Amino acid sequence: MQPSGPSFGGDGESLPNTGSYGSYSASNGFGTDNLEASLAGDDARPRILLMGTRRSGKSSIQKVVFHKMSPHETLFLESTNEIRNRDISTSALVQFQLLDFPGNFDFFEKKSKITPEKIFKRTGALVFVIDAQDDETYSEAIEYFLSMAKLAYKTNPKIEFDVLIHKVDGDAYLSDDHKTDCQNEIKKSITEELADAKLPIRPIFHLTSIYDHTIFEAFSKIVQKLIPQLGLLEKLMDGLIGSCGMEKAFLFDVVSKIYVATDSNPVDMQTYELCSDMIDVVIDVSCIYGVKGKGGDMLAYDADSASVIKLSNNYVLYLREVNKYLALVCLMRADSFAKAGLVEYNFQCFKKAISQLLDAKAKFKSDKEKSDKEKAAAAAAGGAAVRDNAADSKLAGAAASGKDSGDSSKDSSAAGVGAPGGPVAAARADNRSAPAAASQRKKG
Ligand code: GDP
Repeated sequence: MQPSGPSFGGDGESLPNTGSYGSYSASNGFGTDNLEASLAGDDARPRILLMGTRRSGKSSIQKVVFHKMSPHETLFLESTNEIRNRDISTSALVQFQLLDFPGNFDFFEKKSKITPEKIFKRTGALVFVIDAQDDETYSEAIEYFLSMAKLAYKTNPKIEFDVLIHKVDGDAYLSDDHKTDCQNEIKKSITEELADAKLPIRPIFHLTSIYDHTIFEAFSKIVQKLIPQLGLLEKLMDGLIGSCGMEKAFLFDVVSKIYVATDSNPVDMQTYELCSDMIDVVIDVSCIYGVKGKGGDMLAYDADSASVIKLSNNYVLYLREVNKYLALVCLMRADSFAKAGLVEYNFQCFKKAISQLLDAKAKFKSDKEKSDKEKAAAAAAGGAAVRDNAADSKLAGAAASGKDSGDSSKDSSAAGVGAPGGPVAAARADNRSAPAAASQRKKG
């Protein structure tokens, strides 16, 4: 189900109010020159790389999971020869750069200006896609994976590796046994090759398809590895399900339908599908009957969004809004749900804890940005002081030799000549603090 219609409310945190549900804050298909500029920036968000052989399904995955494209539309996607950079920023917890690489991308091709260092140094996860329906390309894909894994590990040993054994759907993969056999075959080859190459890498293998929930489940796990607060979130979820007698609970990023956390019980695919579909049901019904506001400000998901679906097997699906971009969806027995006061009280405690965690995260981020700015300004002011000192000694030398030293302000502006570009010069002007000011006093 691909909902459309009224949007989420944008609070400036991440989503623009584009008028359509499921939009993203930025979507940039960069050519390599622009990409270089983007890679050189001081963006602290982690990076996920989508790599693999040609036509393995990389762009389709990106479009379906993060752009709400219907799986059938991917049949018409054109293949690309450039790296595509997408900024994913759907909630405070889901923020990263997704780089979609062309098939068999080669860093050492003559024309390529993109070096492995630039790509891998800030990468959180390398997601490698193998087309499970094309067994003739398995060995080529495994060889390519190995070459990329070697490069990536050498540059940044902290990178996580995920292998998607993709397109396990249709007539080719009707039975689960067939899927497992394919996974075992690929896993065995990759593990042996990694051992031969003496690479201490332990990739996680996922069986995926864009035609069902498996791709969302796999991406949930990949994205979770990039959330530093995951352990805390899991503990909160454990506390919630324990105190309310729930069977399973998921904290969903509503836009992407990726779950950013769940309790520590194992995830059963059917429960995940039910909970994930509930988000679509709530948004769709809300779009038809529950929209507030007018024109571009129509909201289909807000603080009042909540839903209870009673299942025929005496279980209840329960959805509550946690904040503008997060929803809690849980499965519990009907008799547990009957203790409504207990569930409500615990949910409010959980919601408060999440809000505190996000506030602390935002504060940490702004403090860090502030201190980085201060450090940069101090470094620039230090540079200015060094230059001013040089000017001082020139001045002293001139005075000693009896030459007219001229106006000291002229000298200090001369000290600025050759100063690095705008921002540094501006920082210097703004921060004539300690060292620079001291050197001025010395002149006086
Ligand atoms: P890329 O070159 O790796 O970016 O591959 P594309 O994303 O362009 O996909 C190549 C083809 O694979 C397209 O026709 C897609 O519709 C198809 N495809 C992608 N994912 C799946 C999948 O999960 N199942 C099936 N059956 N086809 C898929």
